[in-house]
Amino acid sequence: MRVFRRSCSNASAFWMPFTSNKEFKNATKRRVVVEGQGMFYSDKDGRKILDAASGLWCSNAGISPRPVVEAAQQQLSRMSYAPSFQMSSDIAFEWADAVVQEGDLMERSLNKVFFTPCGSSAVDTSLKIALAYHRANGEAEKTRFIGRERGYHGVGFGGLSVGGIGANREMFSSALINGVDHLKHTHSILQTENSHGQSNWGAHLADDIENIVALHGTQNIAGVIIEPVAGSTGVLVPPIGYLERVKELCCRHDLLLIFDEVITGFGRLGTPFASERFDVTPDIFTVAKGLTGAVIPAGAVVVRGTVYDTIINASPQGIEFCHGYTYSAHPVAAAAGIAMIKHYRDDGLYEMGKALIPTFEELIHQFDDDDTVLDVRNIGLMGAVQLRVPDGARTFASEVMDDAWHTEGVYLRTNGPDTIAFCPAFIASVDHLEDIFSRTRRSIHRVTSRYC
Ligand code: PLP
Repeated sequence: MRVFRRSCSNASAFWMPFTSNKEFKNATKRRVVVEGQGMFYSDKDGRKILDAASGLWCSNAGISPRPVVEAAQQQLSRMSYAPSFQMSSDIAFEWADAVVQEGDLMERSLNKVFFTPCGSSAVDTSLKIALAYHRANGEAEKTRFIGRERGYHGVGFGGLSVGGIGANREMFSSALINGVDHLKHTHSILQTENSHGQSNWGAHLADDIENIVALHGTQNIAGVIIEPVAGSTGVLVPPIGYLERVKELCCRHDLLLIFDEVITGFGRLGTPFASERFDVTPDIFTVAKGLTGAVIPAGAVVVRGTVYDTIINASPQGIEFCHGYTYSAHPVAAAAGIAMIKHYRDDGLYEMGKALIPTFEELIHQFDDDDTVLDVRNIGLMGAVQLRVPDGARTFASEVMDDAWHTEGVYLRTNGPDTIAFCPAFIASVDHLEDIFSRTRRSIHRVTSRYC
């Protein structure tokens, strides 16, 4: 009988996503974990690795949060699967009700939920909903989208097309969806160096929408999609007044506003959603990551009631929106999602995250005067340190990440060659945060000294 080993001895079959497979597999020491609890992963030798990034901005309650894991386990035994095409499970309806009761969504009339298996599928779903809405309204020619430079909206063709990361788009450039323009991104070290939260500079960048409308005509544009805070390209915080201006222009030109809250959703900014934090209400928004705290994959699109009504009422009979996934509202994800919402609310997880924000801000800005650092920025429990890359250091941030893992026992998330993003779980202690930043500093200095 063949025995399948759990060890990672040759690691050849797994094609790792967003990874240099060659480098990873040829490395003498690999970054591989076998267990995780709370703020720590452990490798096969039992060495603990402190998680500075909530995995991939997703384990808001830490790794393996007990109440959520138990809810998923119980659901697995009760009923491991039920479809949601022309039938559904009780727990799927319960989950949607729980989502729309979060924060102030009901007051903002964001009260319908379409479940998806992940963030990328949530984004593509949100774009389709926007198209379906305009078509149902008798404006089928409103099909163009406005995204933003340095936006990340996952890896589906829709999300890639509205996203603004050259490296992700290049290989697929001829297959991207037609009719997308990009707003300028909002980051300028010159104007906003070492900013604490939102900066005063940059609200005018929203006026790009006017130029794009002038170019194509509002009758051809479906909507604008942006992350309220761009995460994956290095925590780009919206300038004061920027999101308000985007919203105002969307209203003026009859464009749907889509917020991609895959990272900011569920407490990352100190409020359940970014719409509440910035007091700007989108017509549609996406969530994933914090939705189940990454205990199990899931995403969702939350929609203003009137958008839903328009689409549903436009079809006299039959399926109103030909779209969905085998794993839309998967019952185990539903159980985890409901438990996660209870955990945020009833166990004080939102408050724990919020209480950490001032310490996080103070600690990350200790890098302000560091010669190895170009810029520091933060909002809520997310922040970035942009490094001064020494000449000849092509993969500098990755080298820091590798050093931090092997020498300091910290898992860091990098954005591009020069930026380290910090995004700790809400259960972090002040000691954890101090450890994350002091160990990162040592790694940055050690790697920098290799180039001096
Ligand atoms: N949108 C945003 C803002 C994201 O940060 C991500 C992932 O990081 C996605 C979409 C894609 O989510 P997923 O990786 O679950 O498909």
